[in-house]
Amino acid sequence: MCGIVGYIGHRSAADVVLKGLKRLEYRGYDSAGLAHIDGGVVIAKTKGKVAALDKLVTDRTATLGLGHTRWATHGEPNDVNAHPHTGGDRAFALVHNGIIENYDVLKRQLLAQGHVFDGETDTEVLAHLIEEVHRVSGGEFENAVRMALQQVTGTFGIAIVHRDFPDTLFAARRGSPLLVGVGEHEFFVASDASPIIEYTQHVVYLDDDEMVVITRNGYEVKTIRNVPITKAVHQLALSLEQIEKGGYPHFMLKEIHEQPRAIADCLRGRLLVDEHRIQLGGLEPVMDKLLVAKRICIAACGTSWHSGLVGEYLIEGLARIPVEVAYASEFRYNDPLIGPEDVLIVISQSGETADTLAALREAKAKGATVIGVVNVVGSTIARETDAGVYIHAGPEIGVASTKAFTAQVTVLTMIALMLAERKKTLPAARLKQLIRDLHDIPAKIADILARDAEIAELAKVFTYAPNFLYLGRSYNFPVALEGALKLKEISYIHAEGYPAAEMKHGPIALIDQHMPVVVLATSDHVNDKMVSNIEEVRARKGRIIAVTTPGNDAVLNLAEFAVTVPETDDALSPLLTVIPLQLLSYHIAINRKCDVDQPRNLAKSVTVE
Ligand code: GLU
Repeated sequence: MCGIVGYIGHRSAADVVLKGLKRLEYRGYDSAGLAHIDGGVVIAKTKGKVAALDKLVTDRTATLGLGHTRWATHGEPNDVNAHPHTGGDRAFALVHNGIIENYDVLKRQLLAQGHVFDGETDTEVLAHLIEEVHRVSGGEFENAVRMALQQVTGTFGIAIVHRDFPDTLFAARRGSPLLVGVGEHEFFVASDASPIIEYTQHVVYLDDDEMVVITRNGYEVKTIRNVPITKAVHQLALSLEQIEKGGYPHFMLKEIHEQPRAIADCLRGRLLVDEHRIQLGGLEPVMDKLLVAKRICIAACGTSWHSGLVGEYLIEGLARIPVEVAYASEFRYNDPLIGPEDVLIVISQSGETADTLAALREAKAKGATVIGVVNVVGSTIARETDAGVYIHAGPEIGVASTKAFTAQVTVLTMIALMLAERKKTLPAARLKQLIRDLHDIPAKIADILARDAEIAELAKVFTYAPNFLYLGRSYNFPVALEGALKLKEISYIHAEGYPAAEMKHGPIALIDQHMPVVVLATSDHVNDKMVSNIEEVRARKGRIIAVTTPGNDAVLNLAEFAVTVPETDDALSPLLTVIPLQLLSYHIAINRKCDVDQPRNLAKSVTVE
């Protein structure tokens, strides 16, 4: 995780870097640092957020500099472990995103060679390794960086400034995202495009094992084995407005409220209501493979894994193709049984999730066709998949995912419906109705959002509950998992999601008069079964909060509190039932004075294993 910004040009590097780091803070925020060259390397770094670093930086005249906002993997978040790091003679400053997996072996060698380390990070080991290789090889500094990078295993996005090269910025990557912004006589290096959009719309995406050397006049990309590469310059389609809060107190609340628009954007041009069909241009290159696939696998992490579970119900239920959903981190290391007859769908908001990217590569190496469901345009996963569907949710900055979840589910719904149409697995009338119902989803979400105040009141009742249980069946079982995850992430309340019937196989032991139990009980095909499970909770005095549909008296009569969502097809209900759960988590977290946009220990784009 972590965010990197580097600048070379005519502006104050500190201003550009600090502003950029604030935008990248969603990637990590336990410590921050900045370096520039002023005769020697000058470093300011501190535990805490970028705002703390901002106060430390007094000299802002340099026009070459780099910075980092950290999400610690190796070594506690403190001033010493904060990036940038240097070698023993402080000739250069290095920032790093990723993990140097063989840092321990390298560190022992370097200690034996007399190197002394200030902190515990793997990054500092890389800095000393570069220094050592340069000392021994004696050649060009950039070649020493290349040689050192050939010796490391693991992942890195790095940027370096060196006191002997006051007009040069070095950067390289493997596994961690890094792009170069190309402006008018100025250049940027960043983990994503948000720090650079007010300066330039032109970017070059570095690929694995590539290194860029940027001077004030231009840039040159070579592999770390010194092979020159010609890179395409891409045009960004990102606006400043999209990455600002737009009057909301938090990004998370803004993003929750953006869902009607995000889903409408996601459906636009793809859901052809009048023609009763779905058109996903991004999948055309692999359509033949998809239509004959014996099985579809889905690999993802976190909230994306939950949307994958909804996808399983959708694709199996509507298109009648067997689906298996795996945690990407498990899939990648278990020699997955996947081959040329299979299709893997990988889901990632950022398109940079390390485990999901590795799952993609594993499946490709085994000959499977890989499809991406990704938000960030131009991200590594988007570039490496055979085909894909962007979710078009717009930038999601709140660390807890909201609109990306519903947009991912929207895309998976469209994939399921498209396959159902082509494989003729649904009666024409049902397909037509589903397409119409999907079209109506944004307006129905808007209806739920309009009742935010009701949910804020409910949140007051349960703000200090130490535990929560979330129960759902069928399409709403993954929503129960997602509701529990949202609450854990931002309010630090322990919460569990379960298939409602599983409750009696263990979690029921937890239920007493203090336990809030959120039940997802719409008027769907398992409503009667849900009602029985709610009775079981009630019999043990659990406090029932129902997310249900208007007129569902069987549920309404049993619940202590209820929030209603509009009726829709069972298969589409996750797109509605998740909304009150997002709002409930948000309001509880606010009441508990938690930092909802940057919850403790988390980071948005998980680019480490
Ligand atoms: N492994 C490095 C550290 O712990 C970088 C982590 C990151 O990507 O933020 O400092």
